[in-house]
Amino acid sequence: MSTQSKAILASAPNYPDHSPGSNWSLENISVPNDLKDGELLVDMLASGICHTDLISTGVPGGTPGFPYPYVAGHEGSGYVKAVGPGVKKDIKVGDPVLLSFAHCGQCESCEQRHPAYCSAFFPLNIYPVEDVFKAEDDSGVAGKFFGQSSFAKLSVVKESSVLVVRDLVTDKEELKLFAPLGCGIQTGAGATLNVAKPEERDRVMILGVGGVGLSALMAAKMLGCEQIIAVDRVKSRLELAKSLGATHSIDTTGVEDLTATFKEITGGRGPTVVIDTSAYVPLMKAAYNSLAARGTFVFVGANLDPAFNMELGITQHMMNGTRLLGCAEGDSLPEEFIPQLIKYQREGKFQLDKISKFYKAEDFKNALHDMHTGEAIKPILTW
Ligand SMILES: [Zn+2]
Ligand SMILES: [Zn+2]
Repeated sequence: MSTQSKAILASAPNYPDHSPGSNWSLENISVPNDLKDGELLVDMLASGICHTDLISTGVPGGTPGFPYPYVAGHEGSGYVKAVGPGVKKDIKVGDPVLLSFAHCGQCESCEQRHPAYCSAFFPLNIYPVEDVFKAEDDSGVAGKFFGQSSFAKLSVVKESSVLVVRDLVTDKEELKLFAPLGCGIQTGAGATLNVAKPEERDRVMILGVGGVGLSALMAAKMLGCEQIIAVDRVKSRLELAKSLGATHSIDTTGVEDLTATFKEITGGRGPTVVIDTSAYVPLMKAAYNSLAARGTFVFVGANLDPAFNMELGITQHMMNGTRLLGCAEGDSLPEEFIPQLIKYQREGKFQLDKISKFYKAEDFKNALHDMHTGEAIKPILTW
């Protein structure tokens, strides 16, 4: 037995067509009613689009070799429709849930409350599982991307990806707004609050102010950092960054010497913290070279290309006492960090509403277009 539903299917990338979503289409699918151990059926209300959905589906640059077609989407909110066997969390049919990344719960990182570094992170999240859904012609469609594949009206979700919010969220509108907390927002906010941990005297520079960068920025504003510098090449994003607490902004369009510009804006001293969400190596390198002594550089920007690399001079690194920190998913423990972000949103310290824009699921191409031009920072699809 199965239930008819709809989902956005990603087919194998059509190189050289790299336009966002060129290989995505909204299709009728069916979802099995017989859940496996530790699975839930979630009736999706909203799904946030995150950059990783685009890079993993091969636009641009991509990762051919995934089991296409598959359903991406790794930020979502909805209501539990069925609970499979062996689910250990306290979850009932009808419960509102937010979706985040999957983790094994047993490895060293999971046991030490750092599930973003789960030893099984890649297989559990990045690689879609075959034959979760069925297409109209009865062929298999892969799913459980990040344990959830939230780009589906009805999806099979792994227990570890689910956060029950029955005591946290008051209504449907809130549940829609909170859909992206499980990846992009917690990644940015966590890069600041859990990883870089700047203090008031810090000069924090954020490379790329999309959804992740602006979340990092709002967190830096919350900590009262002396300087918060937004760096981007899209004017509207920089304007928004200012309204959300950036003290300075740099439009990199046409700037020849980025390192000198980064030094100059910090009074010649250089930033003490750089949070990179751009994954654009020339920009990262320039920012690294501008860092103040004992500065911190946080790698957040993702690129699945194995050649993604940045060369560093070890002597400069050693003499400068620089700290290089990797950061996946904001090093957050979703069941504690997401409720904290909801609290900050209610207190007005976080302004998720200012960076979100809602689209009907069938209008996903408009959402991707607006994400690309900067008109939408965090597009949220509603089902
Ligand atoms: Zn683990
Ligand atoms: Zn993401």
